[in-house]
Parts: sequence; structure tokens; C-alpha cells
Amino acid sequence: MESNLSTLCKRALLLDYEGLEKYDAVFLSCVFSFTKVNEAILKMPNVFYGGTGIFPDGGEDLPFEVEHSCPDYTLYDPYVNRELDLGRRRSVLSDYLDYSIGFTTRGCFRKCSFCVNKKYDKVHFHAHVNEFYDPSRPFIYLWDDNFLAFPRWREVLEELQETGRPFQFRQGLDIRLMTDEKARVLSRCRYHGDFIFAFDHVEDKELIEKKLLVWRTWADKGTRLYVLSAYDSQDEHDIESVFVRIATLMKYDCIPYIMRYESYKDSYWRPLYVNIARWCNQPQFFKKKSFREFCEANQAYHKNKETMCSAYKAMTDFESRFPDIAAKYFDLRFEEVSILRRFGRPFFNTPSADEMNRQLSVWSQFASGELDRQSALTAYYGKRLDIVCGSMLRESGKLGGGGVCRRPILCH
Ligand code: SF4
Repeated sequence: MESNLSTLCKRALLLDYEGLEKYDAVFLSCVFSFTKVNEAILKMPNVFYGGTGIFPDGGEDLPFEVEHSCPDYTLYDPYVNRELDLGRRRSVLSDYLDYSIGFTTRGCFRKCSFCVNKKYDKVHFHAHVNEFYDPSRPFIYLWDDNFLAFPRWREVLEELQETGRPFQFRQGLDIRLMTDEKARVLSRCRYHGDFIFAFDHVEDKELIEKKLLVWRTWADKGTRLYVLSAYDSQDEHDIESVFVRIATLMKYDCIPYIMRYESYKDSYWRPLYVNIARWCNQPQFFKKKSFREFCEANQAYHKNKETMCSAYKAMTDFESRFPDIAAKYFDLRFEEVSILRRFGRPFFNTPSADEMNRQLSVWSQFASGELDRQSALTAYYGKRLDIVCGSMLRESGKLGGGGVCRRPILCH
């Protein structure tokens, strides 16, 4: 199909709407409804269009042959060259140059009210990795909507691993569907960059904490969660819900990424939303400073010492009106709250034979009931009763599995 298409037609990625009439067929796709597309263009006889930005359900599915053609990555070249000529850095254009891009699954069952993805009731198989994999590109990124809801997720991960290329799921993974098995397999993959999940609703806090605990049992890798803000409301309740989620994520050594729903623009607290996002979405600040310290640092750099910068003004304004919320959250520091930073395991994923023997000895005492709760806690915090090591020992048959809770300390 690919070679036939190449020989039969000339293809180009158009960078503007000029001269559309000279093409036999123009395919136009629009993802977001806030992107305005000229109606006159949509009425042109040679223009075929679709996407959730135009049709609530995305419109008609593309023909099978189109969906399952290997992407022609050279289509990006004119755009990339133009941007490089304009002085943009190559790293900014890396998505177009370094990645094979595709979907292995499509669809999602959740139908979140703010999401355009409502066409399907479940996650279904879409394509094998080989269909869009270009061996000349060093990385793979995936647009799957809700990969962890796909029953055959393990097979897809095996296909991805076989390429030898680091990969990443760009849309975020559904942490609510995390299991021990998924966490174990995913954490051992050649993953590219941070793992990304989502924590959209504060009502899910209990479930998300449970799942983060599962995740952190297996993975100490960089982990971010999208935090939706200004969606349910744009008042102090929403601000508090954002901070509750930030505090929860800090605890599990995860970085929040604040997503602002567009209604934040109409809120009295607009500057606060902006500055919470500036703080969280730049991990170099988030990892080192509390929200108060971040705002104070902004004020220190503020040129006019007679006035307040927007960050400091927004923080002090909120604090004067809602001191209880501010007292709870404005001084939290990632390094002090993170469990991994306080009790992390330096030998994670690569325990030596000596370490495993040490662990076996303590785990055997724990499994036989010789350790009381206090001793078990002491051993856990002293990193002599490591959960992952315990599991590896059990898998290897060195440690009897009968009735041993693998998270004896944290969950009770
Ligand atoms: S879980 Fe994600 S993909 Fe699924 S409906 Fe919600 S936001 Fe959309």
C-alpha cells in the first residue's frame, strides 16, 4: 500500500490555506473545538475533513487503508526545515524527527465529561507496532487513549520491547487501573521520559493513593500526573482540591502537571491558577521550593520593589481570605513529604547477591512471624525489609508465599 501510494500520488503537508484549489484532495483534521476553521474552506469540493474539533464524535472513521498505512514521516520535513531556518532549536522539533508515532489501541470506556473521547465503549486493538515503527527513529511515542484498559496490554508491551526502542505513552496512563502485574512489567520496560498518569478528581484520592502505592512498590522512576483544575468550579474549593492532589502526589514522589480548563480565565483566582501551574509544571522549582517559597522568590526578582509581583499578590490575597487552606498547603516541600526521598531504596531494581541474602534473612523472620510489628517497621524503614526484594524472593521460590502481605507496613 505504501509503495503504491508513493508512486501514484504526490503528497505534501500544507503549512497554510493558500492555493487549496490546485490539489486533487486536501485532508483536514482538527482536534480542538476552540480552533477556528474557515467555513468556506470546509465547503470546497476537494476538501475532506474530520476530527473532534469539527464533529463531536470525530466524524466518520478513516478508510482502513489510511488508518493502517505506515506514516510518511518525511511529510514533516518542510515544516521542520522552515522552523530550523527561523532559528528554532532542533530539540524543540524532536517529536517530528526522532519518534515513530502511532496508536496500538483506540477508545476509552470512561467518557469523562471534559474529554472528546466518547465514541467507543471499550478499548480495542488498533495496530501492531511494526505498522508505524521506523527503525531509523530512536524513540516511539504512542497516542493510545487508555492503554491500561486493554486486556492484552502485555502483548503490546512485548511488541514495543522487541523494537529495542524506548517508548512513551503521551496521553497519560490510567493509574486507577494499575495492578501489581502491570506496575511490575511497565516499570521494567525501556521507557522514555517520565511515566504520565492523571489525577483529575479529588474524589478519587483514596483509590489513587492505593494505586500509587502499588506503582511505587515497583517503580521509583520519574512519575507525573496531570491535575485538572478550574473544571468543576473556579473558586476556593477548586483551589483546595488542587492542593489536596498536589500534596497527595508529593507523598508518592510524583510531580503534578497542572492542566487548566479554559474557564480558569474567568475566575477571580486566575493569577493564582497561573502561578500554581508555573510552580508545579517546572519541576526544578517544584522539587526545591514550597509554593510560598516559589512566590517569595518571584517577588525577590520583581523589579519594582514598591509593588507585588502577580505570584506573591495572588498567594497573599488567597491566604488572607482562606488562611486555613493556606496553612495546610502553602509550606509543603516535596523533599520533605516524599516517601521515596525519605525511605527510598538505593538498590532498587538491582539488588546485589549480598543484599538479597540480607533481605532473605529478614523476610524469612517476617514470614515466620518472628518479627513483631515494631521490629517489622524498624526493618522496613531501615531498608532491610524491602517490598520488591520480598516479591523477587517469593517468585524465585526462596521465600514461602503463604499469606505474606507484600505491603505490611504502609497499608496497615
Ligand atoms: S480516561 Fe482519559 S481518554 Fe478516557 S474519557 Fe477520561 S480523559 Fe478521555
